[in-house]
Amino acid sequence: MAFMYLFHTVSRLRTIEEMKDDFVSNMTHELKTPIAIAYSANDALLNYDTGNDPSKRENYLKIANRQLKRLGELVENILSMSMERRKTMKLKPETIRLGPFTEEIAAAQRMRGGKQIEIEVEADGDVCVEADRTHLTNVLNNLIDNAIKYSGESVRIVVGLDSKGISVSDNGIGIPQKSLPYIFNKFYRVPHGNRQDVRGYGIGLYYVKSILDKMGWSIDVKSKTGEGSVFTIKFGKNG
Ligand code: ADP
Repeated sequence: MAFMYLFHTVSRLRTIEEMKDDFVSNMTHELKTPIAIAYSANDALLNYDTGNDPSKRENYLKIANRQLKRLGELVENILSMSMERRKTMKLKPETIRLGPFTEEIAAAQRMRGGKQIEIEVEADGDVCVEADRTHLTNVLNNLIDNAIKYSGESVRIVVGLDSKGISVSDNGIGIPQKSLPYIFNKFYRVPHGNRQDVRGYGIGLYYVKSILDKMGWSIDVKSKTGEGSVFTIKFGKNG
């Protein structure tokens, strides 16, 4: 009996060790990408003659800026994972007009290369909320990033806004019903078959949930494999 218990504990520890290894290697990759892109953009500015072409210069600066911003958001995600920091982290609420705020996020996401991305913002009236701008930006970017990551070569995303909340829906690969209860857990990733190639570290949704909890908001997910997913944020615990 004791042996079986020990056996289970050891294999559980091993899985956690493996998850940590995966996490460190995936996270290193995530951090290295924006650093490499920002470095190349800066290098181009320093070493190539862009003097006669201000639009080229501006383009490199914009690329570097976007990547540094992304790096900042990743670091914020990592920091928010630590218990201590979550306890002491102070949110700075301000009034946000969700329509223009979401349009700005959607515009930045549409500029990403790689896939054919369609993002529509559907607002039911002029919705205003009291929220921390940086964290709400991170939350929406995490949900839209996932919608893009877990989809085929083209994806259609609709961000719905109304007085009760925000929804992000996609027509991606969907999430199996049996995985739904776990997707907000730290380090959890759905074993996705042919989408195993998608890089990730299983903390995006954990971060999203932690922040929303702290704001007194909630999040819910509905999904069907092969059809897509809908993440719904509610301004308040019971919607
Ligand atoms: P990561 O994307 O880094 O693995 P997340 O915490 O953001 O971590 O998401 C956890 C898991 O939930 C993902 O690995 C993926 O399996 C699943 N998932 C999240 N969002 C979606 C989505 N929109 N469509 C399909 N699967 C999703």
